[in-house]
Amino acid sequence: MKIALHDVDKTKYPNLALMKISAWHKKEGDKITWYDPLLSHQYDAVYSSKVFTFTKTEKLFGKHIIRGGTGIDIHARLRNIIEHGCPDYDLYNLDYSLGFLTRGCIRQCSFCIVPKKEGYIKPHQDIEQFLRHDKAVLMDNNVLACDYGIEQIEKIIKLGIKVDFNQGLDARLIDNSMAKLLSKVKWLSPIRLACDSQKQMDPTQKAVTLLRWHNATPRRYFIYVLIKDPKEALERIKFLKGLDLDCHAQPFIDFENSRPPTRDQKNLARWVNHKAIFKSVPWGEYEPCLSPARGKSACYATG
Ligand code: SF4
Repeated sequence: MKIALHDVDKTKYPNLALMKISAWHKKEGDKITWYDPLLSHQYDAVYSSKVFTFTKTEKLFGKHIIRGGTGIDIHARLRNIIEHGCPDYDLYNLDYSLGFLTRGCIRQCSFCIVPKKEGYIKPHQDIEQFLRHDKAVLMDNNVLACDYGIEQIEKIIKLGIKVDFNQGLDARLIDNSMAKLLSKVKWLSPIRLACDSQKQMDPTQKAVTLLRWHNATPRRYFIYVLIKDPKEALERIKFLKGLDLDCHAQPFIDFENSRPPTRDQKNLARWVNHKAIFKSVPWGEYEPCLSPARGKSACYATG
């Protein structure tokens, strides 16, 4: 059979579901190709995957069109045999492995889709089921929240591979023994934490202090900051800046994408995410502006 894959979002990030579908069909002896509308008469099946709600669904052609992904239906699932296989890394020429050790989360943050989509935290895959490189990017949402996730981290330490938990670790779960364990991991990127509300400020400070104490390296940790109310978020950002942490700010976008971020949310995010300006220009002296000539946003620092 000839199978075509279609990545609706076309972001810089690889689509894990398509990688798994590709691997499974290759094992079945099928021929895999990226979707091309001009060749659609050749396809026995087209798999189209959409992760985000804000990307546009296109009309596709082919004998059999299968659409899936969180952007289509948050409860859509791959068949177990596909979901628990090893992805096809050749599809995006990745030089790192990619996957989830756990799915779900123990928390119910109001702004987050994970509890609705994945439910309570549970084991998903063993690292060795999808590890094919000496480094791995792991997309777990709260790996420290279950014993299985921690056992997998112990395994990662034994394997000696480099990893990045790119969705961030939960600072509230990092006590002295966890910080000690995390300091033994070889990190592909700085450890990422999230500080999405004022309640997380103290736990973030404690976690960072413990990680620094145990010399978890690289020592410049990276903090995700959600911006709903810009005034409230600014307090968190100033606090984190005072702890000499690198931040990445994300304006809140609701799952239906019905409320675009406000100008205040976007301005604050731009200030935080422009590393050179964030380090050298205080918020009070930063003046974002819109450039009417190009119709694009531009930012500058005053003074
Ligand atoms: S802790 Fe993170 S993954 Fe869990 S519900 Fe909150 S934002 Fe979502």
